[in-house]
Amino acid sequence: MEQVLEDPDELAVLEEIQQELILQEQLVFEEYERSLRFDEECLNAMLDGLDASDRVICPVCRKNNLTVKAHLVCCQCGLYISTQDMTEGKLRSLLESTLTEHSQRCLHSPEFTVTSGMEEEASLLMSCSVCDSWMILL
Ligand SMILES: [Zn+2]
Ligand SMILES: [Zn+2]
Repeated sequence: MEQVLEDPDELAVLEEIQQELILQEQLVFEEYERSLRFDEECLNAMLDGLDASDRVICPVCRKNNLTVKAHLVCCQCGLYISTQDMTEGKLRSLLESTLTEHSQRCLHSPEFTVTSGMEEEASLLMSCSVCDSWMILL
């Protein structure tokens, strides 16, 4: 190997290969940096979404955002309730005022469930086992 490297032409080729490798490494690194930046943008967009005032977290599963349409509120967890003229803002303030009202007489955090009878429409129910109260929200 050493004998081959003594040849100046071979050395030049080797150097060229080395330069190429460095260049490639830089390209890979730049690509990596770009993908990082992309991830960051995605994350920021998601965080913005959480902060946006027109999002309401589902009180039943507490994971997904509720989808609010004028005649319908639904969630990936199975919540599906017919409403009238509903908006994210109305729903949010309804949830907030119900929770605030409950917290004034009870420290326990209430549970939200969806009830449905055989013929009745499904409704969203807030109930608390500690103060033994319940309320239909939707
Ligand atoms: Zn849900
Ligand atoms: Zn209570």
